[in-house]
Amino acid sequence: MSHAVQNAKPVLNYYGGAWRSSQAGDLLPVCNPATAEVLGYTPLSTPEEVDAAVRSAAAAWRDWRRTPATERVQPLFRLKQLLEENLEELARTITLECGKTLVESRGEMRRAIENVEVASGIPILMQGNFSEEIARGVDEFSIRQPLGVCAILAPFNFPGMIPFWFLPYALACGNTVVLKPSERVPLTMQKVLELLELSGFPPGCVNVVNGGKAVAEELISHPLVRAVSFVGSSAVAKSVYAKAAAHGKRVQCQGGAKNPIVVLPDADVENATPVIADSAFGCAGQRCLAASLAILVGEAAKEFGQSIREAAATRRTGNGLEDVQMGPVISPESRSRIEGLIAQAERDGAQVTVDGRNPVIPRGERGNFIRPTIIEDLPLTSSVAHTEIFGPVLSLHRVDSIEAALEMVNSGAYGNAASVFTTSGEAARRFRSEAEVGNVGINIGVAAPMAFFPFSGARESFFGDLHGQGRDAVRFFTQEKVVIERWPKEWSRKF
Ligand code: NAD
Repeated sequence: MSHAVQNAKPVLNYYGGAWRSSQAGDLLPVCNPATAEVLGYTPLSTPEEVDAAVRSAAAAWRDWRRTPATERVQPLFRLKQLLEENLEELARTITLECGKTLVESRGEMRRAIENVEVASGIPILMQGNFSEEIARGVDEFSIRQPLGVCAILAPFNFPGMIPFWFLPYALACGNTVVLKPSERVPLTMQKVLELLELSGFPPGCVNVVNGGKAVAEELISHPLVRAVSFVGSSAVAKSVYAKAAAHGKRVQCQGGAKNPIVVLPDADVENATPVIADSAFGCAGQRCLAASLAILVGEAAKEFGQSIREAAATRRTGNGLEDVQMGPVISPESRSRIEGLIAQAERDGAQVTVDGRNPVIPRGERGNFIRPTIIEDLPLTSSVAHTEIFGPVLSLHRVDSIEAALEMVNSGAYGNAASVFTTSGEAARRFRSEAEVGNVGINIGVAAPMAFFPFSGARESFFGDLHGQGRDAVRFFTQEKVVIERWPKEWSRKF
């Protein structure tokens, strides 16, 4: 049973430069995953509210698009400073509503800030190209122009970071934004919005409408929305991609994952184990870059198997505000789903050699806790071997060659990330070249691109061509226009 903390209130929408209560009849409770306390409520905002937010973004765009890039980045510099000053409060809010540890929440906000920093370079990042004299007396050049109103749809697992893969670039490029946070974790963006408001963006440039699927669909189909950036599960990513395209929008959709980690027999197991444990169990496995399958080649199986079981069994799990290494998963439903998948793996013939189900966590009776879990001998015919678990579960698979490992890496439907652990440059180089994924880690457990690289993804993990972050984001949020220019000599006045 959940209980509400004092002052648990519905979160507010924000558009036209003002905070607004939603008229929605339906409110979803936002629960602390470690305690089940109700922290607030998400209104499932109405179509009229979505429309009002989009219209305020469209109205603001008329001036914002003509504001020089050097002026547009000034609020971003202030935002960077405000995010730094409020980092602890933001991290605490993320931990409260999402469950991850404070260290993880701080890390998430650091990457958000990095994206603001990179987007602040927009005066140079969005420069065009110029070719003089493409024919006698003719010059040709391209310029990058903003699109208009851009919609951002975010998932629950990085409430602070993921909107920043898009938002600072969209704004710096001269667009205006309507953001829909995940209905499960709307509180972090409320705090970020307070800072955005202080940063000095003109009213209407940044807008937030809270809600779930219906609000997302209103945004995707709204005639004044020009572009849609989505991050979430693959099934939804695929459908958002199709719907947005059908409505003529520019669209980028980052989806789910099932990330393999290959451990070669020459790997430095002592150093690799904590890194892989953090990849599989950090953020309670609720990272799109989390290791889900460990593919152990030949001799690697024995030593690594032993050390990862030990790492899993000893990971301190509890309330993310305390001195722990892992928090709860997002909801009781998510916990049951994950426990169900572990049971399914068992029925399909796997051994659960470290079993994190039904853990006893001090003061954690009401939380959605699962401790780290290791599954072994899971047949590849089991659907669990191909399903995104999105929980602290790692399955170990034994193969006898790097070829077999690569085949397994490339056989799954997803292509978000894959890592290899080895001391051989040659093997690493081959893996880098042949793994069919968007993000490759070489002796790295969570191959999360810095803000100045795209957050890549392939196959069922990504639908579109331009990703979030860095230059990809600049290209996504601008339309390239080509100009060919001739000024005949005979028109010139004689000076
Ligand atoms: P989700 O797909 O349930 O929801 C994501 C967003 O889509 C939310 O804002 C939700 O309200 C909205 N939504 C839900 N159903 C919709 C529909 N039918 N049409 C339009 N919008 C809809 O995802 P989640 O559970 O919040 O997040 C976890 C998932 O996100 C995992 O699969 C994870 O791998 C993925 N993820 C991917 C990346 C990446 O970069 N590839 C990053 C983070 C998370």
